Amino acid sequence: MTADRWVFMNGEYKRKEEATVSVFDHGFLYGDGIFEGIRVYDGNIFRLKEHIERLYDSAKSILLNIPYTIEEMETAVVEAVRKNGLRDAYIRLVVSRGVGDLSLNPDSCEKANVIIIVDQVRLFSKELFEKGISVITVPTRRNIPDALDPKIKSLNYLNNILVRIEANRAGVAEAIMLNSHGYVTEGSGDNIFIVKRGVIYTPPTYLGALEGITRGVIMELAEKQGYTVKEQPFTRHDVYVADEVFLTGTAAEVISVVDVDGRKIGNGLPGPIAKELMAEFHKLVKVDGVQVYSDAPAATV
Ligand code: PMP
Repeated sequence: MTADRWVFMNGEYKRKEEATVSVFDHGFLYGDGIFEGIRVYDGNIFRLKEHIERLYDSAKSILLNIPYTIEEMETAVVEAVRKNGLRDAYIRLVVSRGVGDLSLNPDSCEKANVIIIVDQVRLFSKELFEKGISVITVPTRRNIPDALDPKIKSLNYLNNILVRIEANRAGVAEAIMLNSHGYVTEGSGDNIFIVKRGVIYTPPTYLGALEGITRGVIMELAEKQGYTVKEQPFTRHDVYVADEVFLTGTAAEVISVVDVDGRKIGNGLPGPIAKELMAEFHKLVKVDGVQVYSDAPAATV
C-alpha cells in the first residue's frame, strides 16, 4: 500500500493527486523558476540551511521574490517532511514565477508559487553503488555561464535533459558535459571529481557547473581525511587517465565511475579514495543536519 503524500502548496497541504499548478504558470510555460533537491537520512535533513540559501541565491539572481523568509521556508520544509512521516526521503522544493499571461513578461505574474514535495527517490541501484557506473562524454555542451549560469538552479534543465537523453541512448547511467572550450564541467545531475596520484581534482564552477552541496561536503571530508583537493580545469584526457573518477550529488550521493567513453578507469573497480569518502559521507549524513522527529518514531511507508 502506498502511503498518502502531502504536497505543500503556498502554505496549504494538498494530496499528491490534487497538487496541480495552472497551465498559465510561467514555470510551466517558460521554465521561469528555481528549485532545490534535499535529502532526509534517518529523520535528519542534510544541510538544509545550505540548500535553502542556494535557493534564495538562485531567486536573487533571477529577480524572483520568494514570499517567505529563509526561516519560514526552513520551518515549512521540516513540517512537510513530518507531515509525510518519512524518515528517508527526497525533498523537491520548487518556486516558480507563478501564474501570468502568455507573454514572456514576468511582470504579468502576480505571485510566486512555492511547492514542497516529499517523496522517495533512488537514482542508482545498490549494485551500481557497489560496482561503479559507466559514463560517456557527450557532444551537447554545458550552458555557458554568460548565457544561463549553471550556478542558478533554475527550472530550465533542458541542457541537462538533452544530455540525459544521450546517456539513455548510449545505455549508460550518466553522462558528462564539457564546456564550449572542451573542459570537463559536470554530469547531468551531479558534480565530477578525479583522483591522480593521491590528489583530488574537481572543476571550478566558473567553467559551468552547479556549486553542488555534496561537492562542498566531499571537499571538506577529503581535506579532513588528509587529502589535497584542487579546483582545477581538466580535459577528457585527464579523466581517461585518472586513477579514480567519482560523481557527487544529493540524489547521486557519492558514486564511482569505472568506465568513461570505453576507457577503463584504474583497474575497473571503485577506487579506494572514493570508497573511503563514500563511507565518511554516509556517517556524516546521519548526524549533520536538522532532526525532523524528536521522538524518532518508525515511519510507515
Ligand atoms: N549538478 C547538477 C546539474 C545538478 O542538478 C545537481 C543536483 N542538484 C548537482 C550538480 C549536485 O548538486 P548537489 O550536491 O547540491 O545536489
